[in-house]
Amino acid sequence: MSPKSPSDSWGPATRALHTGQRRSAEGENSIALYLTSSFAFESPEQARARFADEEPGNIYSRFTNPNLSAFEERMAALEGGEDAVSFASGMAAISSTFLALLSAGDHIVLSRSVFGSIANVARDVLPRMGIEVDLVSLSDLEAWRAAIKPNTKMLFMETPANPTLEMGDIAALAQLAHDNGAILAVDNVFATPVMQQPLALGADLTVHSATKYLDGQGRVLGGAVVGRKDLVRGPIYSYLRNCGPTLSPFNAWVLHKGLETLALRMERHNHSALQIAQALDCHALLSGGKVRYPGLPSHAQHELAKRQMQGFGGLLCLELGDRERAYRFLNALTIAQITANLGDSRTLATHPATTTHAKWKEEARQAAGITQGLVRLSIGLEDVADLQADFEQALEAMAG
Ligand SMILES: *Cc1c(COP(=O)(O)O)cnc(C)c1O
Repeated sequence: MSPKSPSDSWGPATRALHTGQRRSAEGENSIALYLTSSFAFESPEQARARFADEEPGNIYSRFTNPNLSAFEERMAALEGGEDAVSFASGMAAISSTFLALLSAGDHIVLSRSVFGSIANVARDVLPRMGIEVDLVSLSDLEAWRAAIKPNTKMLFMETPANPTLEMGDIAALAQLAHDNGAILAVDNVFATPVMQQPLALGADLTVHSATKYLDGQGRVLGGAVVGRKDLVRGPIYSYLRNCGPTLSPFNAWVLHKGLETLALRMERHNHSALQIAQALDCHALLSGGKVRYPGLPSHAQHELAKRQMQGFGGLLCLELGDRERAYRFLNALTIAQITANLGDSRTLATHPATTTHAKWKEEARQAAGITQGLVRLSIGLEDVADLQADFEQALEAMAG
C-alpha cells in the first residue's frame, strides 16, 4: 500500500502533510529513517543504468537518499517550484547556488541587508573566484537598475531582511532581472513558503535555511534551493553531487516532519508577533516608531508587505537607543533566550550589532540600519500574554 497521491488543488497545510511521503515494505505510516551511505544494486546492469541516469533510484547518500528526496518533494510542493535540492545548511545552499551558477567574469547584485554570512561570501569569496559583486539598498529599485551591467547574471535579495525587516519588491526585481537576461534568487527564510511564494511572483529560485522556521524547534541545520528545474536539477544538483555539501538523512527526516506543522506554527508566530508589535508600539518608552514590524502601518513598506505576504511573520525589532539600554532590556528578560538563532518554538532575543553582525565595519552596519540600540525578537509559541508582560517589565527595568 503506497501513501495517498498528492493533488494540485491542495492547500499548503495538506501539501505539507501528504507530499513527499514514502513507505517501505514494512508499511510504516511515519516515514522511516534511511541511515545508509550507499545502496545495493541487483546486478551490474542495474548499477550501470543508475549511473547512466537511465533508471531512477538511489546510488549513494552524497546525492541520493529517500529522506532527502522526501524533504525536497515537500519543499517543492510548498514553494510551488518545479524541483528542490537540499543542503547541509542554509549557507551551503546559498554558497552552492552562487558557485554553481556564476563563473569568473560574471556579475551579481545583492541587497546590502542580507544575512551576515551571505554578505561575507559576497565580499570575500566571490571576488576571489573572479565574480564581480555589487551591494545595493534592498528597497531602492533605481539603485538595482543602475547596478545592472552586461555581465549581470543574478540578482539576490532577502525579504523581509535580517535583522532590519526592510522589504524588497519581488515582482519588480524579477521583471528587472528578466529584462536584462539575469535570474532572481530570493532568500525566503523569514517569511517561509507559508507567507510568501517568490516563485509565483516571478523569482527563478528561492533559497532556504531550513534551520529556522522549517525545523521550527531549533534542533538541526539544513538548507534547500527550490525553483526552475533546469537550474535546480542541472548545475545546482551537479555541484552538490560533486562537491558534497550534503544534508544528513537524519536532519532531512527531522525537517520533513517539521514541515508538517509549519502552517500551524506560522499562524501562531504571526498572530503573537502582531499582537506584541501593536502593544509595544503604544508603549510610552517606544513611542515614535521604535517598533519595526511589517504589519504595523508605521513600517515604511507596510503596503508592500500586505501585497506580497500572507501574514507578517514572527520577527520584530525594537530600537532602544543605545547599546547600554539594549543590554539592560536583554538582561531583564525572563522568558526569551539570548541566542543568535531565530524561528524557534521558544522566543529568542538577539543584539545583532555585537553578535550576528559584529564582524561588519561600523559604516556597513550603519548603511544597513543595524544600530547599537537594535534588538531583534523572534516571537515563539508561548502564551502571548506572558510574552507581552515580560517585554513590558524588561522595558521598565531598562528605563530604571
Ligand atoms: C540563518 C540564515 C541563513 C543561513 O542559514 P544556516 O542554516 O545558518 O547556514 C541564511 N539566510 C537567512 C535569512 C538566515 O536567517
